[in-house]
Amino acid sequence: MSIQQNLQDIRATVPEGVTLVAVSKTKPVSEIMEAYNAGQRVFGENKIQDMVEKEAEMPKDIEWHMIGHVQRNKVKYMAEFVSLIHGVDNFKIMREIDKQAKKHDRVINCLLQIKIAEEDSKFGMTSADAQDILKSEDTLKLKNVCIVGVMGMATFTDNQQHIEKEFKKLKSIFDELKELKITDCQLKTISMGMSSDYQIAIDCGSTMIRVGSSIFGERNY
Ligand SMILES: *Cc1c(COP(=O)(O)O)cnc(C)c1O
Repeated sequence: MSIQQNLQDIRATVPEGVTLVAVSKTKPVSEIMEAYNAGQRVFGENKIQDMVEKEAEMPKDIEWHMIGHVQRNKVKYMAEFVSLIHGVDNFKIMREIDKQAKKHDRVINCLLQIKIAEEDSKFGMTSADAQDILKSEDTLKLKNVCIVGVMGMATFTDNQQHIEKEFKKLKSIFDELKELKITDCQLKTISMGMSSDYQIAIDCGSTMIRVGSSIFGERNY
């Protein structure tokens, strides 16, 4: 199957209003260009350095999303161009993103990563942490960061009901946060769903899916 065909097949199943982020981590520019030439403009990477290198080589109308864990000392390298940071899970990171965004006179959109999976290995905050961050005066002072939604990853399992339960939990956390209506930024994005579970995620209210291997094939690390 070609990348172009894979993209076409996936788009056919994704409703309007759901953004498809093509996760291109570990993939070379030549393959990402195949997706670009098939009309894809939103790409996700999980390492800042890789994203910076690819951004330099590729067309400028691409929206680059940072979907991985964010290392504070590397925020400065992507601040000039990153269009959405999915994995914000503490206030210190927000403060650094704000500081770096200011240098480029930008406001950087971010998602709060919420821990919905039972596995310990996944990053993320609790819904109480997220509420605290959104309510905090300190957050309001960060004029160059905009929290526009939440992101979560389900447990890695074949159990569909279990995955569904976790996605529904993220949707309800999002709905609660939206009720707070305290920041200037509109909460509008629920980033959930990957190759193996994006259909379930969409059924549970996802507005943004992050799909890698179903587009580009399996990754060889
Ligand atoms: C790699 C990755 C994806 C995509 O995974 P696939 O199973 O290849 O679709 C989605 N989200 C995050 C955070 C990832 O690291």
